[in-house]
Amino acid sequence: MKALSLHITGIVQGVGFRPFVYNLAGELGLNGWVLNASDGVYTVVEGDPATVDAFPQAVRDRAPAMAVVESITAEEIEPEGFREFSIRASRAQDGAMTLVSPDIATCPECAAELFDPADRRYRYPFINCTNCGPRFTIIGDVPYDRPMTSMRDFPMCPECAEEYGDPRDRRFHAQPDACFICGPRLYLNDDGVPDDWRWAADRDCSPRAHRDRDAEAARSDAIVEHAAVLLDGGRILAIKGLGGFHLACDALNPEAVTRLRERKHRWGKPLAIMVPDIETARAYCEVGAEEEGLLSGAVRPIVLLRRRETSDAHEGMASPVAGTPDVREGAAEGSAASYAGGEDAEIRDERIAASRAPAEDCPSAGPLGSPPELAPGVAGNLAEIGVMLPYTPLHHLLLAAVSSRPLVMTSGNLSNEPIATDNTEALDRLGSIADAFLLHDRAILSRYDDSVVRVVDGIVEPVRRSRGYAPFPLPLPFETDTDILAAGPEQKSTFTLLTGGYAFVSQHIGDLENAETLNSFEATEKLYERLFRITPEVVAHDLHPEYLSTKWALRLDLPKIGVQHHHAHIVSVTAENGVSDRVAGIAFDGTGYGEDGRIWGGEVLLADWSDYERFAHLAYVPMPGGAGAIKRPARMALGTLYALGLVDHPGAAPLRSRLAEGEEATLLRMVDRGVNCPLTSSMGRLFDTVAALVGIADDAQYEGEAAILLEAAADSGADGAYEFALLAPGDSPLADEAVPFTIDPTPVLTALLDDIAAGIPTGVLSIRFHRAVVACIVRVGMVATKRAGTHHVALAGGVFMNRIVFGGAVRELRAAGLIPLNHVRLPANDGAVSYGQAVVAWARRHGI
Ligand SMILES: [Zn+2]
Ligand SMILES: [Zn+2]
Ligand SMILES: [Zn+2]
Repeated sequence: MKALSLHITGIVQGVGFRPFVYNLAGELGLNGWVLNASDGVYTVVEGDPATVDAFPQAVRDRAPAMAVVESITAEEIEPEGFREFSIRASRAQDGAMTLVSPDIATCPECAAELFDPADRRYRYPFINCTNCGPRFTIIGDVPYDRPMTSMRDFPMCPECAEEYGDPRDRRFHAQPDACFICGPRLYLNDDGVPDDWRWAADRDCSPRAHRDRDAEAARSDAIVEHAAVLLDGGRILAIKGLGGFHLACDALNPEAVTRLRERKHRWGKPLAIMVPDIETARAYCEVGAEEEGLLSGAVRPIVLLRRRETSDAHEGMASPVAGTPDVREGAAEGSAASYAGGEDAEIRDERIAASRAPAEDCPSAGPLGSPPELAPGVAGNLAEIGVMLPYTPLHHLLLAAVSSRPLVMTSGNLSNEPIATDNTEALDRLGSIADAFLLHDRAILSRYDDSVVRVVDGIVEPVRRSRGYAPFPLPLPFETDTDILAAGPEQKSTFTLLTGGYAFVSQHIGDLENAETLNSFEATEKLYERLFRITPEVVAHDLHPEYLSTKWALRLDLPKIGVQHHHAHIVSVTAENGVSDRVAGIAFDGTGYGEDGRIWGGEVLLADWSDYERFAHLAYVPMPGGAGAIKRPARMALGTLYALGLVDHPGAAPLRSRLAEGEEATLLRMVDRGVNCPLTSSMGRLFDTVAALVGIADDAQYEGEAAILLEAAADSGADGAYEFALLAPGDSPLADEAVPFTIDPTPVLTALLDDIAAGIPTGVLSIRFHRAVVACIVRVGMVATKRAGTHHVALAGGVFMNRIVFGGAVRELRAAGLIPLNHVRLPANDGAVSYGQAVVAWARRHGI
């Protein structure tokens, strides 16, 4: 007889870990107990010595799919002679930290039960189990137990309680476990619906009384059907999800999509769509193996996919509305609006019948010709489209109810505001956008957008890190004994908290440009401190004095460490890769406050974690009108040509002819006098300039739009490349005397203007410019690595969201014998800056 006491840390709560330990012990004939504590899972096993010794390894090898075992500490203790293995009550401890699982997409078992008429949760919109469902979004505090979650309002019915208490059941201790009788329910606020459907702030009281199963199921089905009819009719629906609201409409209906954009004041940016399955995604887009795994996995982010040409989209593709050919014809004409009102009863019945089962189970599913075209307003002419698969039971039900038609599913907010989470808040804030509201009464305790990822040359590139990823921390390449907070920049805001061996990088919070977003930022930061028992002792911040995050950090009663924006970008990459030595860092983005008060963004830094040297930068040019130049690339282009002495080149004539009456004279006067003309070394602005010169975008709806359109236009089959010059101090008036090299865009722009004057097609101009940027990265990378005595070139900043630049730079740096470093878990854009700030603060504080 031998006994071991184990302490297991990592993501071991909310992922079916205790039942797993219970069953494993039972299988091996061991007795003892297991419990959840604030700092992980504790278990004692006793029995045959060899079996007991093998137990820790068995825990590691066979842990549940969603668990992440970080460490197991085992200690031999005196056997107590337990007669069974039991699950003990959870234990809360002060100051202890445990990890919290992100929310998990509906698992295949639950999806099967959802569409199984014999199951008691048949069509229950909140079905879940120990392997799936909400987690982070319903947790108010740890340990992760029902009373600490927003499920505390729903006392379990006897059947649910039995499952919850039965270690052999796959819902054993699944905190969000519920059913029609006892659990959360749908509400639908629309004109003329039964009073019983409508949600009102004062109508529900907790704890919630149990309900009649059949009546409840009928009510729920009727609500889902009504929601589907609204979507079919081209209406816009606000739908409450896991971490906030979506605004949804029929992605095949051009009028509906346009209306959604108008009401949301969202122009230019593409809208994400939700499709029922991989086959449908494939009908519209190229889906590689890596992308398929992301789309259908446990996280289910929005995956940016390359669109297929519509003409060849039919080969071997299942129609998105397979199994309902009558409806498919209607949809193919883009006439989904015709369902509004007098729908043919027979079609209607068929459609409802079809909606009772997932599309892939329909016997008639199969190649049925090309899919109905997406409304042009979904993603315009962009080469990529954001696609996701259903990740909650409600999504599965809704997509089935709209005959598996793709739905636009975009964040439920007005532009620039955080996504709405609360019913009352949504009814108020989204009332001017949505025609109706599909609500539920399970409170969202943490705001959470959809995550966005893409795959570039086989590398998974995060674009927005949120649902399914946060709040899982990044491992730190060091241990910190000081808790550190970093407030992040302004765009794509995140904060980071360092404690022990972990970096908690928050979910994407949005652009910190208004009080609503700042409130959300503050609330989320407090939540992380509470959940993970973190007490910051120092705060890092951006150098920009006007950023709300900087002002917020400066108000805290903590020692402060200011970190330059591009230094933070580079350190974010090197720390993710565990490289602490000095590297050559290439930080190309739109905007970052420089040490000289200018706007940096085309930076080559020799950087380690605590310090950096500015080695090279793109030549300074004026931004006429400051931020106004970001909204109007044509201005940026004119100012740049003027500063470089190229404004009279014949290739500039088309741009100048498109400027408004008197605009040129005003702009040039501003540049001459230096009035409201900050100087910038931004690579993002150079992309804007080129996009305007080639006639793709004189104006931009959002920062980066012109560059995205320029990338989309590139003709990769064309030959040729432009070339930047590298200037040393004294080489030309353009050279910065304070840095070893200045990257001069004059030869690039001269050749571009020559090509424009010669009538070369836009796609050729675009690819030649992209190749110049890649070649510049390799060339300056060679010189900088030599100077720094390294082979590492870190690539960071929003410009590396560009597939041609990122893919090309990685390939060609390798070909040149260098080692490119890129982000792994964090996005290349400003979403990664807070993590870099935190590491710099740690390094400076520890004199590294
Ligand atoms: Zn499940
Ligand atoms: Zn129940
Ligand atoms: Zn940046």
